[in-house]
Amino acid sequence: MTDITTVAVLGTGVLGSQIAFQTAYSGFAVTAYDISDDALAAARERFARLAATYRAEVPGAAEDGKADLALMRLTLTTDLSVAAQADLVIEAVPEVLDLKRDVYIKLGELAPEKTIFATNSSTLLPSDMVEFTGRPDRFLALHFANRVWKFNTAEVMGTTHTDPAVFATVQEFATEIGMVPIAIHKEKAGYVLNSLLVPLLNAGMGLAAGGYASVEDIDKTWRIATGAPLGPLQILDVIGLTTPYNILTHSSTGDEKLATWLKETYIDQGKLGVATGEGFYKY
Ligand code: NAD
Repeated sequence: MTDITTVAVLGTGVLGSQIAFQTAYSGFAVTAYDISDDALAAARERFARLAATYRAEVPGAAEDGKADLALMRLTLTTDLSVAAQADLVIEAVPEVLDLKRDVYIKLGELAPEKTIFATNSSTLLPSDMVEFTGRPDRFLALHFANRVWKFNTAEVMGTTHTDPAVFATVQEFATEIGMVPIAIHKEKAGYVLNSLLVPLLNAGMGLAAGGYASVEDIDKTWRIATGAPLGPLQILDVIGLTTPYNILTHSSTGDEKLATWLKETYIDQGKLGVATGEGFYKY
């Protein structure tokens, strides 16, 4: 067992709310921090929806009021000095380096020396942020996948400054909250998951954009020949097409022609995937 008993999550959006809820569900006292009362009101609604989702989808969550107990272990605050008192602070604020820098500088001043900081950033490396934390040995990435209660990988990735004991503690903590920890031995943009997934999704889009095969047949090939439940274009519809568009536009794996095709054929038509009722498929 780790000596982590209290956890704070900074940012209560899509991922922050899931991380906070899953951690509370696993028995930890969790402080959820966001910047305004409006954001906290939205967080309360997210937590209530998550409790309902857990009751419906997580075995055992409906019994003994387990999902409701999780709600009781969550404290919401707009006061960063309160969040900074936790043993582990997990940062899930928007993917904007300047914003994360400001958060770490303030947090570093408020938190006791022993506190571990972990970033959930998907595309930034911990090295991009480490100098702002004031504790290079106690800072690393702990990267969750969307729908943490179901897709429960937690990729753990440090910098060359991360203390191996801290790395091990965070791996163990991930297990304690029901995740499967994946140790990344050196820094890699995209960790394991997105290093595998992004090229697959881009290849699927490339085949469709080039008119090599129909959307249905591209997915069918992948499903039948590998046994995977979904093909790349089905996966893209679940993710929503804006995120892949941003990746194609901004990242080193970008492809401007493919981004333009995705935008003109789908995004500009309001076809953003499952969430809008249509993407590559109709829902
Ligand atoms: P989001 O936009 O849904 O939520 C961000 C939250 O941060 C909002 O509640 C916002 O009010 C809050 N916020 C804004 N400024 C803040 C500040 N200064 N301090 C504290 N909170 C602040 O974003 P998200 O999708 O949850 O992504 C958050 C992080 O998680 C990003 O680093 C992203 O790369 C990573 N991530 C996202 C996903 C995903 O599928 N969405 C998956 C894995 C990792």
